[in-house]
Amino acid sequence: MNNRLTVLAGPTAVGKGTISTYIRQNHPEVWFSVSATTRPRRPGEIDGVHYHFLTDDAFDALIAEGRLLEYAVVHGRHRYGTPAAPVEEKLEQGIPALLEIDLQGARQVKEKMPDARFVFLAPPTWEELVSRLTGRGTESEEEQERRLATAKRELAAESEFDVIIVNDHVRTAAEELLSLMGISTSD
Ligand code: 5GP
Repeated sequence: MNNRLTVLAGPTAVGKGTISTYIRQNHPEVWFSVSATTRPRRPGEIDGVHYHFLTDDAFDALIAEGRLLEYAVVHGRHRYGTPAAPVEEKLEQGIPALLEIDLQGARQVKEKMPDARFVFLAPPTWEELVSRLTGRGTESEEEQERRLATAKRELAAESEFDVIIVNDHVRTAAEELLSLMGISTSD
């Protein structure tokens, strides 16, 4: 059986999180990789569920031991990375696996696993992306500026991807992604 890893990337605040939430709630058969990060936990986030929250030293150790499939500094600040073993395990078991990572990480996965399916989630318009980014209200102004700069650079990378999904509507975009993964969305 040909179980391909699916990598979902796209600019910050494009709505990767809402697509993931929709899929988590409606398609528990999809496995989501839990990333390691050095970013502090936000209220409501659970260690081991949303992320593995690590110290810099613990993150360094994962890199040194070669246990990350990819890792990157995102928004010029904290490190995020995908533990390799769980991904390999799920693929071997034939379980549909999804990585929701940044562009730099997606490029590293492409080097290591060129057969993976690379999906770019695009905003309907740049204005929509800006309004989503500033409307979230969880980051400082300085942090928002930093994220906008990252988003601008990331938007230019569409062409590197196999498929582009425009996030006009959460359910439609999520179902498009699921259908690419070979998962039936009719009840
Ligand atoms: P946040 O801090 O808002 O949870 O995530 C910030 C960004 O980090 C998101 O754009 C997300 O895609 C990216 N990210 C999350 N996990 C990983 C990972 O394991 N590797 C990489 N390269 N990026 C990640």
